[in-house]
Amino acid sequence: MIQFFNTLSGQKEPFTPLEPGQVRLYTCGPTVYDHAHIGNFRAYIFEDLLKRFLQFEGFRVTHVMNITDVDDKTIRRANGRGIALDAFTAEYIQAFFEDLKVLRIEPADHYPRATEHIPDMVRIIRGLLDKGFAYRKDGAVYFSIARFPGYGKLSKIDLAELRTTERVESDEYEKESPRDFALWKAPKEDEPFWNSEIGPGRPGWHIECSAMSSKYLGPTFDIHCGGVDNIFPHHENEIAQSEAYWDRPFVRYWLHCHHLIVDGEKMAKSKGNFFTLRDLVEKRQADPMALRYLLLSTHYRKVLNFTFEALDQAQAALRRIRDFLYELDSRPFPAGKGPEIPDILAEARAKFVEGLGDDLNISLALTALFEMIKRINVLIKEDKLRADDAAEAAALVHSLDLVLAVLPPRRETTIPDELMRKIQAREQARKDRNFKLADQLRRELADAGLVLEDTKDGVRWKVLK
Ligand code: AMP
Ligand code: ZN
Repeated sequence: MIQFFNTLSGQKEPFTPLEPGQVRLYTCGPTVYDHAHIGNFRAYIFEDLLKRFLQFEGFRVTHVMNITDVDDKTIRRANGRGIALDAFTAEYIQAFFEDLKVLRIEPADHYPRATEHIPDMVRIIRGLLDKGFAYRKDGAVYFSIARFPGYGKLSKIDLAELRTTERVESDEYEKESPRDFALWKAPKEDEPFWNSEIGPGRPGWHIECSAMSSKYLGPTFDIHCGGVDNIFPHHENEIAQSEAYWDRPFVRYWLHCHHLIVDGEKMAKSKGNFFTLRDLVEKRQADPMALRYLLLSTHYRKVLNFTFEALDQAQAALRRIRDFLYELDSRPFPAGKGPEIPDILAEARAKFVEGLGDDLNISLALTALFEMIKRINVLIKEDKLRADDAAEAAALVHSLDLVLAVLPPRRETTIPDELMRKIQAREQARKDRNFKLADQLRRELADAGLVLEDTKDGVRWKVLK
């Protein structure tokens, strides 16, 4: 059984998608006014873990991630640099896609951009005006939260203090002050605007996610994710807009990850206490896979404190898995299979899946993997592991890595026939005591990215390129 903690109900619930076998997933994407920081990537990697796990369990996942390329912040920064909004955001959109690749985050099926979906937003705003959930004021359109009875059901916000006359124009505001929020903002000097049937202006941030999720996933879909900072007001407002307009439930499961913090504070661009992926990789020579491992190895609903020590520990954990695979792939094990391995592997796989199925309990899943490594290492030490066992164990690790995505892809550990023949030729040359030829072959193999190591059990190799 798979169960997830649903922020809406405040408890774990068994997961079943609306359509059997098919999951519809929406995740709030970046606001492209700067490089994403590793706090943002904690959210994206948690969502990637969720998606990969669902796929591992046999679901098809349709995934939509929006790109916020117009809002208060993007406009302010573009104006500051004195360039057009689209030219400004293009640079960060490209950087974002590059970062996703480096962190092996699976691409979404759609990356809708806000500026390309203005008519979809206008249609909903128009409908909300017609239905009486929205009103006009000074050229802007606001959502009247008092008109929507379910307001506050996600964030459990206290509406007792609500004064219906208060409005807020900015996209982000404090939880203590639930207010009518802007769906459409009146044109201002130095701000881009669109002409539309509801008048000239630009959309608020919240309406974009209601418009783009329904366009690609339908008015009701399975899972919506983001960081906890999105719960209020962003996701609360998405629910209000969507359910008021469509008159049906918006999202079935809300999953939110907790923050990545540094020195006890949320990592945020506005605080200036952030690292980008580029900072870590280029200036600190961090291995992106160690960062991925670090970000996914703490349960998503716990606060994760970023330290360089923790990054080193993640690197060490990763090395343990890689070394294990290296042993399995490169040692000459005797042919055949032993009796213990099928049970060890089946147990590891079952515990891994059971762990992740329980609200993505990554600690249980990783424990299952490392427990298996430990047990098999004992068998290797006792000379009990056979060639078929090693192949099956390696296959399982690679299969679990479809979910974790922290290891080099399999093909890097198998080598072309031509190089294999060279390794054998070098072995023969050594036996023939033709060391000149053996050295020559070793150099050629090194040029091809293979480092050889001669052990008492025979030659082993490591792929470097
Ligand atoms: P933004 O670009 O600020 O709209 O954020 C994009 C995503 O990153 C959202 O899902 C946020 O909730 C998430 N996020 C922002 N800061 C952090 C943080 N320090 N830790 C975890 N997630 C974060
Ligand atoms: Zn959103």
